[in-house]
Amino acid sequence: MKTIFEKINRPYKKLKNDNLLIRLNYFDYKDWDKGIFSNLKEKIKNHLRKEQNNQCCYCRSKLGFDIRQTEIEHIIAKSKEKNFTFISKNLALCCPGCNSSKSTKNVLKRLSQKPLEIN
Ligand SMILES: [Zn+2]
Repeated sequence: MKTIFEKINRPYKKLKNDNLLIRLNYFDYKDWDKGIFSNLKEKIKNHLRKEQNNQCCYCRSKLGFDIRQTEIEHIIAKSKEKNFTFISKNLALCCPGCNSSKSTKNVLKRLSQKPLEIN
């Protein structure tokens, strides 16, 4: 079965300003929810939406355009690896249903067959 991770050919490319914003404001994985990152997350979402053909990375259902209908998924949970929180290759879009039912263990198992490149 083809996974979405092979399908995201071009992860979001962070700009200099993005990196600066992260460096100055991100210290703990909970900081992901800070309002200051809203713009950056919106840019990541728009990018991934195109890359993923507007489909959920797990169930492939069409993603809605309402802010509550699409969530940025951390393939490796940010609570487990806080340094991966803003790594573009660790990010994908999923629907709220998949986000709440996801098992971190399964995802990691799938990933271990194809190591994550950090750029
Ligand atoms: Zn889904």
